[in-house]
Amino acid sequence: MMVTVKKLAVVTGGSKGIGRAVCIELAKAGYDIVVNYRSDEQGAAETLRAVIEQGAGGKTMRFDVSNRDETQEAVREIAESYESVDVLVNNAGIHADGLFVMMPHEDWDAVIDTTLRGFYNVTRPLLEKMIFQKHGSIVSISSVAALIGNRGQANYAAAKAGLIGASRALASEVARLGVRVNVVAPGLIETEMIKGAPIENIKTLIPMARTGKPEEVAKVVRFLCSDDASYMTGQVVSVNGGMF
Ligand code: NDP
Repeated sequence: MMVTVKKLAVVTGGSKGIGRAVCIELAKAGYDIVVNYRSDEQGAAETLRAVIEQGAGGKTMRFDVSNRDETQEAVREIAESYESVDVLVNNAGIHADGLFVMMPHEDWDAVIDTTLRGFYNVTRPLLEKMIFQKHGSIVSISSVAALIGNRGQANYAAAKAGLIGASRALASEVARLGVRVNVVAPGLIETEMIKGAPIENIKTLIPMARTGKPEEVAKVVRFLCSDDASYMTGQVVSVNGGMF
């Protein structure tokens, strides 16, 4: 059955961290949310509860964005069951750090596959729907690592830089079709992903001398998704406390 909602956002990796904050922020802005997750069912359910507390609706959906078959099936279900998909946030991401000379190919592949295969697997089919609707906004979460090339993160920097290239190319392809495509590049944000990182050392590189909060990224994502950013496409917006 086709569901009609005011506005729908699909957020990958919504079970925690930045993805959860994005789900909540978009719910506040009036979107119903499809909360994707890979393994943390409980985390995704908590996100959905927080979304519902904002007066929005939605559902959780488990699929691994790097797995083509799983994602294809899930995205087809979304496209067929909702009348429109207004926003896609490609947030799912992992890291597997280590010096390149010692990096196992599994760590290279896992990071590239999650970020870049994931971008393709989710974005391509939903883009068809956005083009048909003649509107849509896609925001992908890159990283400061793509811009400065952190030591020990060749796989992560390559994946996140690839996301920027793909988004810019896509933005120029669909700009006249009513679809905007932008990127947010966060710095060091307090989530599970940075547990174990030498935060005190890294803070010395941040002009604001503090880590960021997921909500500080989510508000920028929400802005880029909204009509307030109607003349912005193909852009990379850094949210990093001034770190360059
Ligand atoms: P977390 O580790 O807290 O959350 C990652 C999320 O991605 C989880 O919801 C996880 O799902 C999901 N995920 C991972 N792999 C897959 C997959 N294959 N398919 C579907 N979902 C997946 O990370 P953050 O919130 O910190 O990061 C969110 C994004 O922001 C990532 O892309 C990250 O690279 C980027 N980023 C983070 C920064 C930081 O300092 N925290 C800095 C710059 C960028 P589950 O838990 O269910 O497995």
